[in-house]
Order: sequence, then C-alpha cells, then structure tokens
Amino acid sequence: MFSHARATGWLLLAILAGAVVSGFLFGKRIWCQYICPLGKLIGQYATISSVVLRSNSNVCLSQCQTHDCIKDAGCPMDLHPSASKTTNECILCLSCARNCPHKAVRLDARFPWQGLFTQRNWEFSRAFFAILLVALILAVKLPAWIATNDFLPHRVRNLSLFDIPGSNLLIFAAIIIGYFVLVSVVSLLSNAKDFKKSFVYTGYAYLPLAFVGWFNIYFREFVDHGHEILPLAASIVGLSEYIRMSWVTPNLATLKGLIPIITLVGATISLFMLAKIVEDFSIRRVVHRLHQLIMACTTLLFLFIM
Ligand code: SF4
Ligand code: SF4
Repeated sequence: MFSHARATGWLLLAILAGAVVSGFLFGKRIWCQYICPLGKLIGQYATISSVVLRSNSNVCLSQCQTHDCIKDAGCPMDLHPSASKTTNECILCLSCARNCPHKAVRLDARFPWQGLFTQRNWEFSRAFFAILLVALILAVKLPAWIATNDFLPHRVRNLSLFDIPGSNLLIFAAIIIGYFVLVSVVSLLSNAKDFKKSFVYTGYAYLPLAFVGWFNIYFREFVDHGHEILPLAASIVGLSEYIRMSWVTPNLATLKGLIPIITLVGATISLFMLAKIVEDFSIRRVVHRLHQLIMACTTLLFLFIM
C-alpha cells in the first residue's frame, strides 16, 4: 500500500466507510477511539508528545460548579480535561478550553519522555506495538533499498529470492518476525519470571525510534515529490495558463539533510528513555546493553534506508 496509489485509495476508502458506518451505528468517535488502526497509531505516539493538555485541578475539582467543558458532548472523546493527561485519547481539539469559563485549561510543552514516566499503566500491547512499528519500517524500506542500492555487490542486489512469486510478502513477514524475536529474546535474558516486565518497560523505549522512522518515510516522500503539489493544484483549477510553473515549484531538495538529523534525535531520545527505564525498574545490565545494540543497529539501518 505504500507504493501503490490504488491500494492506498482503497485503504482510505475503507477507513472512511468504517468511520461513517460505525458513527451511524454506535455514535460519534467510536471508530477513532476503539477501532481505527490510525487512531491507535496516533494514540501510541501521544505517550511521547511534546505538547500536553493540562487543567487547573484546584479550579476544576473545588471551584467549578458547572463543568461547561463536558456539557452538550463538549468533548468529542468523552474526556474530562483533568483526565486527558493520563490517557492517549485526547485529540487536542481544544473544545474544552473554548468552553471553560474559568480559563482553567491550557496547553503545556514537555520533554517527550515526561509523559512516559507519569503514566499509570504500562501496557503489554503498547510495548508490543512500538516494537512492531520499528519492525514494520524495516520491512517496508529495507528490501527496496537492498534491491536498488548501488553500493551493494551485484550478487546481493539480485538475490534470486526477490524473483520468486510471493517472496516480497515472505521477506516482509520474515523481517517483522525476526526483529520481534530478537527484541523478545533480549528481554528474556532478564530471566523468565521478569520477561513480561522487562519486555513491556524496554519496549516503550522504542517509541521515539518508531516515530522518527515513520515521520521520515512520509517526510522523504514530501521532499522528493512535494514540489509537484502546487503546480498540480494550479493545473487542476485551470491556472496553469496564467502563471509560470517555476513560480509555484519550490526547491525542497535541501530538506533532505534534515532526515538523518531527525533519525539521530529520535535514536538519542530512545537511548535516553531506555537508560532511565533500566535505572528506574532495575533491569539487568546485559539486557540494557543488548537493547542499546539493537537500537544502534536499527538507527544505522534507518540512516541508510531513508
Ligand atoms: S475545565 Fe473549566 S469548565 Fe471544565 S471542570 Fe475545569 S473549570 Fe470547570
Ligand atoms: S482537547 Fe478536545 S479531546 Fe482533549 S479533552 Fe479537550 S475537548 Fe476532549
């Protein structure tokens, strides 16, 4: 679906249909909150968001009598602003801030790791998802990079495996499962009893790496093809005869230099979070070192394949 416009179109159409049908059957936002994989993906990254909604609990809990912020379905996600910072469901629409007569709601900036260490529940599914996202990025980009890269020996680029029907899917699945098994085995070293704890805590540290990987995939597409957007829009609305295309064709190539910087920033945050998690939850040194190694190798691969 990454490389086929028609498949992407079908996916978006399916999501739109799902949102309309579930909205009709179960009410607004049920699709976003409980079903849509894109909603889950964004909710996943909310843990490391640098922006957070906060409310003044003194005002909300002791002084406010009216609770205008949640009246008349004021919050599309059925949240009270005082609870929004402990969930990943707030979509930052700021409806509560607009409806609050006491000006008790505000947006705050925070470091990406602060949300992680103030959360109440460390969920297995979220750790699993973070690792899966990193594995997916490698599965999406690595085979194409191997097949087209001039630096690799001819023999590697033309691996006969790529020519076998269905092999793309097999390679895709093998990379995801292989990466996942690798991370799980490392967590197992913390000893069988602590496996789940070690897997869940360390799994969260892969989130920034997953975020910058996904961001860079789309950012790279923007850098390569973003200059076509305005000329295309101009020709669709019939302005191409009146304006020169060069006027509306920006040169975005220099933005390419940001891609490795973004990758390195994400990797640094992941390594920092890992170190803090290891310290806070007394995870074994060998587990820490091996996760560091996996993260460093993943970063190196990201630098090549993006
Ligand atoms: S956000 Fe405003 S309206 Fe809502 S409970 Fe707090 S003070 Fe009341
Ligand atoms: S910002 Fe929007 S989604 Fe978040 S708590 Fe306020 S009203 Fe709800």
